[in-house]
Amino acid sequence: MNEVARTVIVRSTPLPRKLFRVFVELEGMYRNMVEQLVLYAVRTGVISFTRLKALKYRELRSQYPQLPSHYAYTTCQDASTRAKSFLRLKKEGLAKRGYPEVNRVSIWLDDHLWRMKCLTSIEIATHKGWVVIELELHKLFWKYVNSEWRVASEAKIKLDKWERRLVIYLVFKKIVEAYRPKGFISVDVNENHAAVLVDGKAYLFKTGFRDIILGYYYRRKRIQEKYDKFYGASCRVKKKVLEGLKERERKSNLKWKLANIVVRIAVDKQYTIVLERLGKNPAKEMVNHFRDDQLRHRIYQASFKGVQRAVEEKAREHGVPVVYADPRNTSRMCPIHSSLIVYENDSRVGRCSRGGELWHRDVVACYNLLLRARLGNGSNAPSLGGFTLDGSPVPLGSTATHEPTEIPKSLWARWKSLDATNKNKSMRISI
Ligand SMILES: [Zn+2]
Repeated sequence: MNEVARTVIVRSTPLPRKLFRVFVELEGMYRNMVEQLVLYAVRTGVISFTRLKALKYRELRSQYPQLPSHYAYTTCQDASTRAKSFLRLKKEGLAKRGYPEVNRVSIWLDDHLWRMKCLTSIEIATHKGWVVIELELHKLFWKYVNSEWRVASEAKIKLDKWERRLVIYLVFKKIVEAYRPKGFISVDVNENHAAVLVDGKAYLFKTGFRDIILGYYYRRKRIQEKYDKFYGASCRVKKKVLEGLKERERKSNLKWKLANIVVRIAVDKQYTIVLERLGKNPAKEMVNHFRDDQLRHRIYQASFKGVQRAVEEKAREHGVPVVYADPRNTSRMCPIHSSLIVYENDSRVGRCSRGGELWHRDVVACYNLLLRARLGNGSNAPSLGGFTLDGSPVPLGSTATHEPTEIPKSLWARWKSLDATNKNKSMRISI
């Protein structure tokens, strides 16, 4: 059983000036408390929430006796998170200043500081007592309310000073129960493709991660060089341009689309997803043709780890079990004869040294992941759907190349599920 959480942003109706004033005051006190706490935490190294609270609770309460007591809790939580992330950045040499800054503040609320009054309004505890806030609801909010999600006790608010509204970050949670899997779907990711094996049929999704990442990498480098030359290393315009690039990069992220397609197949068929178990330093093994460490790391993060994470998160949300298999030599061993597959001149298709049958590199990897997951699972493993382990009557046909169905990015990036393949000629999956 897993708990999944999603944040939904809701805005209040515009508040009367006098009421908004209360929140401006509240924010001021809150900011002050967090600033003190973060500085204290970073200076003394006391960054755990419980210790911070134990040491500072009394002081905070005596400073702001008019505030509901639980603000002393939530400010400690907020400060603990900020202190931790500041120290992490400092360690990586990425902190902008030698001390932590509290720029943007959102007020953290717990179950003592706010409550749902009804579906269209909430109450918030302030130094002036409980205040009712009317919400401007939208479709997404109703979608969550009308399904199995429930509102969690933690929430955050921000002040929109232009429009005199509160921006409320509500957290919805639900418990997802994993099903008993009836089979497997294995996924093998490399820098340019993701291969998916379902019921003995392989699909090759072209992702082009490597080219996308290289493109952004060189663009970023060019921007840095240009601005550094004319304006020096720390320049605001450069920062803005780089942030814009980062934003575009994030939006063009294909990994979520891919994860959605994979998880949807698994849900429809009630299958377990098999992924490669990523080792401690696999970037070096898999992306070893780049001399630049940073570049190698980026490609690894975006293609391997990125896709894995996305699949894992989507799977958790839908109760899809995920298992991991050892990825070593998955593309080099014939899954039928357990003999070496020989690839000539960088070809993606190789020949089994014993059976002589042809294999597509990514498809072999999927089969091997599947086999390893099955063997690892022991006796209660679900059926493989016709694929037998002993290779004598070659189940895959020794003359076929086990050629996967290749799907260009322009096509699948618009899909919601593999069923979309039905529209594309003979790509239908047979069960
Ligand atoms: Zn073979």
